[in-house]
Amino acid sequence: MTIQYFHKILIANRGEIACRVIRTARKLGIRTVAVYSDADKDALHVSMADEAIHIGAAPSRDSYLVYERVIEAAKKTGAEAIHPGYGFLSENAAFCKACKDNDIVFIGPPVGAIEAMGSKSAAKTIMEKAAVPLVPGYHGDDQSRDILKQAADEMGYPVLLKAVAGGGGKGMRQVWSEADFDEALEAAKRESLNAFGNEDMLVEKYLTQPRHVEIQVFCDQQGNAVYLFERDCSVQRRHQKVIEEAPAPGMTETLRSAMGEAAIRSAQAINYEGAGTVEFLLDSDGSFYFMEMNTRLQVEHPVTEMITGQDLVEWQLRVAAGEPLPASQQQLSISGHAFEARIYAEDPDNDFLPVTGTLSFLQPPASSDHVRVDTGVLQGDEVSVYYDPMIAKLIVWDETREKALQRLTQALKDYRIGGMTTNIDFLYNLASSKPFAEAELDTGFIEKHHPLIF
Ligand code: ADP
Repeated sequence: MTIQYFHKILIANRGEIACRVIRTARKLGIRTVAVYSDADKDALHVSMADEAIHIGAAPSRDSYLVYERVIEAAKKTGAEAIHPGYGFLSENAAFCKACKDNDIVFIGPPVGAIEAMGSKSAAKTIMEKAAVPLVPGYHGDDQSRDILKQAADEMGYPVLLKAVAGGGGKGMRQVWSEADFDEALEAAKRESLNAFGNEDMLVEKYLTQPRHVEIQVFCDQQGNAVYLFERDCSVQRRHQKVIEEAPAPGMTETLRSAMGEAAIRSAQAINYEGAGTVEFLLDSDGSFYFMEMNTRLQVEHPVTEMITGQDLVEWQLRVAAGEPLPASQQQLSISGHAFEARIYAEDPDNDFLPVTGTLSFLQPPASSDHVRVDTGVLQGDEVSVYYDPMIAKLIVWDETREKALQRLTQALKDYRIGGMTTNIDFLYNLASSKPFAEAELDTGFIEKHHPLIF
């Protein structure tokens, strides 16, 4: 079981994902190094790791995003590899390259794959060549207003303007008619420039009721690739995932293998290694379109673990150490159904604004084969302004969707958090609503069923 190759790894992250990676490393007999900011000196991930190195002040741009300090910490502690988690440096090509330059293994894809997927327009060009279906649209270099507008007019409204450098739902604007184009373009460019330092746009046909279905892929250094099926992440608020599930309700075997094969083509087109996710929009007629590939472990990876019985962090560590994939496509199968609900310190009655404060009381539901809680906080911890206010991920599994949904509502009911406002009641109302039970899923779900949920 033990991976001989890595004796010690550094986790360049905080919160639940740092704790999650440490758990698997421990299981495999690998020593761990945590890094932390001023705000995190007493954090759970620090106490769980074998060693911890301070890397700077609380704001992430002064600590978790300063890759030179992360590399220095790895060298100082003799860590042979770095797991970047998600967010922060995980899709930062310069960091990936710096790891290599310092003879440290980056637990993730090669730098070329990160670069290729870092731009939504370059990614679309590559996928077009690999015969992966794309949302109709314009992803060219000419960024003049007239060219973008002409593309939108020809495609027909509604269209979606999307930041080429975008992520996290930022720099996106729907345009419902020709008259609204200029204003939307200005707004999207402004937002993109602020968030990403780049204002290039792509124009896509706006699908009005698509589902967001993504495929988990894995590739090893020997050129093998598999897909670990799909996750449905259609339940979103402002293009951010709220509840994810696997498998996707109503999925047919034919569609599943078509999407799985397309995802593998996407990964192979960029010589991928490690864990990746290919995101597709699925239209009501069964057509699916490549949206983007995330070159890291996703927040919602646990639902895939629950239905496949695989530990994806273990897969990442093995593949990064040069081992072949732990299982072939034929050896992988789906068992049962899983949900993940993201528990946030936020106020649904106040436009979901993040909430800060002390978790004066914290009692998650009991963990079992059916209920898993991935968290990075303990009772008494602070939820600060500095980082993402996610408190935990609640993951449930059962043999059928119906039973798993019962587990989810029960676990949400049992989740007790005192001292701060959270979205737990909102999640409970959502999970126990009739349309959710009936899996009437599309990305407009929350907007459409708003009165039912609140
Ligand atoms: P980001 O990288 O900012 O998260 P994505 O390209 O992944 O942006 O899109 C995020 C979400 O936006 C999707 O999950 C989907 O809900 C919506 N979306 C993206 N492209 C389209 C489109 N062409 N039509 C309709 N909805 C879209």
